[in-house]
Amino acid sequence: MLKKIVNPLVLASIALLPLMSACSSDSKKETEAKKSSEPVKKEVAVSKIGHDYNVQPKKVADGIWCMFGVLDGPTKENGGFMSNSCYIQTKDSWVLWDTGATYKFAEQAYAAMKKIKDMPVSTVLISHEHDDHWLGAGYYQKNFGAKVIGSKLIARDFKPGHEAETRMYRILTPETVEGTKIITVDETAQEGKTTTYNIGGLEMKYVSLGKAHSEDDYLLYLPSKNVVLAADVIMNGRITSNRDGSVLGQIKAIKAVKNLNWDVCVPGHGFITDKTATDESTLYFKLLKERILKALDDDVEATEINEVVTLPEFKKAAMYDMLNSNNVSAAYTELEMADDPEAPEYSF
Ligand SMILES: [Zn+2]
Repeated sequence: MLKKIVNPLVLASIALLPLMSACSSDSKKETEAKKSSEPVKKEVAVSKIGHDYNVQPKKVADGIWCMFGVLDGPTKENGGFMSNSCYIQTKDSWVLWDTGATYKFAEQAYAAMKKIKDMPVSTVLISHEHDDHWLGAGYYQKNFGAKVIGSKLIARDFKPGHEAETRMYRILTPETVEGTKIITVDETAQEGKTTTYNIGGLEMKYVSLGKAHSEDDYLLYLPSKNVVLAADVIMNGRITSNRDGSVLGQIKAIKAVKNLNWDVCVPGHGFITDKTATDESTLYFKLLKERILKALDDDVEATEINEVVTLPEFKKAAMYDMLNSNNVSAAYTELEMADDPEAPEYSF
């Protein structure tokens, strides 16, 4: 009875540990006590069986289901499921918008979608080169011979066989990334253009946004559904990472999204898909631009910019502490060099 209420560590400190480990039932109790108090145990259990992503597709519009990742960077606990991806139903196949970060995620996503409709995946459209959005694509190439369409930057920055260098391989457990491979894109996205596809009777517009969130961003617009799949040029509930992007490019891209006729807008990260989906990104980049330009007018030095420009309006948003100061520094560098920060609006 006494042992039940005494912390095993206390027992160890009074030199009873050798006695305990000699007794199998007591050492089992010790293990159980640790299990209940240490969340890290879950991770160990996960790594043995591979990650259970608990994929729950959410229907966002007629014939479109999305999986919404958590508002965080990739961690062992989330298995890299921290971005959004969508399945689009056509007459005889699924079309994907982004694939998630691992082979296992893709496998589990497909298993969930197969219950909704059992049909192959014909096409995978990728929004941009960040690996949380496409590293699962190999599952669809391997199992369905799906055609993968994406930015040329994937081939520039990711070489098949160099998986160990990717963020996901560095962060996730070996069991979670098992089977995940860097793919070769089958069709390179058309920069600076809108490419219209008609797949299984459904028209979709794959729209180049130029350098915005990354160096080469795309959105997918489904005119007959009034749906825009905006990926990372739109986020809500969390701060963006603008490390590879552009403040001015983001502002143009957000305007391009808002100029489309839609009822549903699915962000790359975040859960809000209604008419307010774009509000946070719009405000964030508006304030960032205004405050940096004011600081430049006031001759604030680069070394002081993070003291002068903050965005307290977003302090409670996820990842603010991790990403905001880098965004501010990058915005300073960009806007200091910009010839015309009030460049004309994006149109296509
Ligand atoms: Zn991204």
